[in-house]
Amino acid sequence: MKRIQKGIILLGLLATIAVFWLLYPENNGVIVLEYHSISHLGGLFCLAPDTFEQQMGYLAQNGYTAISLDQLSAGLNDEDALPAKPVLITFDDGYTDNYTTALPILEKYGLRATVFIITGKVDQPGYLTWAQIKDMLARGIDIGSHTVSHRDLSKLSAVEQEKELKESKKTLEKALSRPIDYLAYPFGGFNAATLRLLGETGYLGAFSGIPGVNTANTNPYILHRIPMLNTKTGIWRFELYLWKLQLKDKIRQLRGLE
Ligand SMILES: [Zn+2]
Repeated sequence: MKRIQKGIILLGLLATIAVFWLLYPENNGVIVLEYHSISHLGGLFCLAPDTFEQQMGYLAQNGYTAISLDQLSAGLNDEDALPAKPVLITFDDGYTDNYTTALPILEKYGLRATVFIITGKVDQPGYLTWAQIKDMLARGIDIGSHTVSHRDLSKLSAVEQEKELKESKKTLEKALSRPIDYLAYPFGGFNAATLRLLGETGYLGAFSGIPGVNTANTNPYILHRIPMLNTKTGIWRFELYLWKLQLKDKIRQLRGLE
């Protein structure tokens, strides 16, 4: 076969794969963004404030609705309960800059978010204080658990894991006078025991760092998130995921017009 024919076949194959990749790998559902620190400290898990603002501006200008944990719960059971273009914005670890830097940007664009707190770190230097957490709650930010000590749960015994899940939940519920239903896994780590213990300790769901979109078919204890990393591909992946969702929205609208 001539080289050019091979080339055409290869291109056709790639185009077919691209179409399937765009249309089938993920259903409509909720995209969850995973942030950590919003500051100039640098490092993979630390996003510069102007990059963060650029991303929040993009969401607001393109009609995304930042949802609460309750809206996520409802939406995973009934997709119709979700607003158009839902997105859940989350922060892990509970750094002070989530309050001083991220919150004003979120408010500027009318976006809400969820912060996962390491209860053993509250009131420590660099981390949120209880007063700041309470103020965030009052300003529409949701709170979840990120365990007590931020150890990788998959490396702990079941007894230790249970303690991490139970105590962080209890501490947050007592301090904030509201149910704490969701957890984010430190280092994305969990095992079979974690999944069982989450149910037993009364959590409705838990977030991993495994990219994807969340639907009614997603295991609520292995919810997908897109890690928003301080890399050039971080922004690229962000836009790619949102673009894919937008495309799906358009396809849905076209189907609705038929
Ligand atoms: Zn963490």
